[in-house]
Amino acid sequence: MPYSSRTRSFHGRAPKKRYNAPKKNRSFGQYIDPQRFIAPARVQAAEKYEPVHAFTDFALDNLLQKNLAYAGYKVPSPIQDQAIPVGLMGRDVIGIAGTGTGKTAAFALPLLQRLLNDKHGTALILAPTRELAQQIEQECRKLSHGSGLKPCVLIGGTSMQPQLRQLRANPRLIVGTPGRVKDHLERGTLQLKNCNYVVLDEVDRMLDMGFIADIREVIGRTNPMRQSLFFSATSNPKIRSLMDDLTNDPVEITIAAVAASSNVHQDVIRYTAQADKMEKLHDLLIGDLATKVIIFDETQRNVERLTTELTDRGFKTVAIHGGKTQGHRQRALKQFKLNEVSIMVATDVAARGLDVSDITHVVNYSVPQQYEDYIHRVGRAGRAGRTGYAFTFVAHS
Ligand code: AMP
Repeated sequence: MPYSSRTRSFHGRAPKKRYNAPKKNRSFGQYIDPQRFIAPARVQAAEKYEPVHAFTDFALDNLLQKNLAYAGYKVPSPIQDQAIPVGLMGRDVIGIAGTGTGKTAAFALPLLQRLLNDKHGTALILAPTRELAQQIEQECRKLSHGSGLKPCVLIGGTSMQPQLRQLRANPRLIVGTPGRVKDHLERGTLQLKNCNYVVLDEVDRMLDMGFIADIREVIGRTNPMRQSLFFSATSNPKIRSLMDDLTNDPVEITIAAVAASSNVHQDVIRYTAQADKMEKLHDLLIGDLATKVIIFDETQRNVERLTTELTDRGFKTVAIHGGKTQGHRQRALKQFKLNEVSIMVATDVAARGLDVSDITHVVNYSVPQQYEDYIHRVGRAGRAGRTGYAFTFVAHS
């Protein structure tokens, strides 16, 4: 058994038990055979990728090289190994790679280098969620430290004033979510006609979230001679057609999607009723190995309800979902990253692309709507070569 059913104190507080009325398990997405949620971790099978390049082989400014060394990046990840030289040549890129593969630096390094060479160049990076946009901004800031390039972040849920102030200084690197960027374009507070480098990150997620029209509109306002670097964890005809329409003779790079979950032990937990489900979750959370847990639930209301229930039981828990203010979301994420709390309950949308490296357990308290969502969720655990655990709650049939 990967987790213990002993009841013990968690963070010094005795967990209480409380029972909810049984609730029917409902799912509105595709039917996914529970067998697909079961797989042993294949730690030995971690693929041996031999990079063709060292970072020093890339035509990157000394300053970028120095920042890379300072960040502790010694060897390029597969997507970096393949995308950086192509990006530096000025070619468009379509990269199929998930979170945790190092794709941020794969697009940020060529982009930063080109901005250093081309003093009139400006770049736009679009990401599906505010958190991911902020993560990208931090990575760009880290890699461009000392260059004078200050990324400007345009995301919703935050006050317009600081953004307007930053925009008045004509930033050359903008990171944002499609909605807020479009908002600025419509208000006339942002011009993109000279923007000659465009990155779309997590294209599949942006389409899932209904951003397709916004993306087309925003990119339609950029320089037609731009370089485009587009990344998506998955591909389908709709994603493909958007990427084909907006790129010019792109080089395609695909990184195996299974890499993220091959070292995650995956299993199902069967439950009979809502009270039984809660007890099984409780037992899982008091297990010794469950030191940093992300629990996915279906709706904002369910996330809130579960967070309250777990807090009542003595677990240090935070919630993250689209209904929370940006400030709250940032605080919750920080607490989770710094191990001030060990459990984060989240909706898929809010947790997308988050880079938290030491999550031990992913718990699917509700079955994901699509199998792709499952892959995304499971990819949160088992980062950096560690063994992770993913448990999916499935109602007894
Ligand atoms: P990403 O997939 O871009 O979100 O990156 C996942 C994590 O890997 C981040 O914490 C990065 O800082 C880190 N990272 C990216 N590239 C490298 C590298 N070449 N060596 C070590 N760590 C890296």
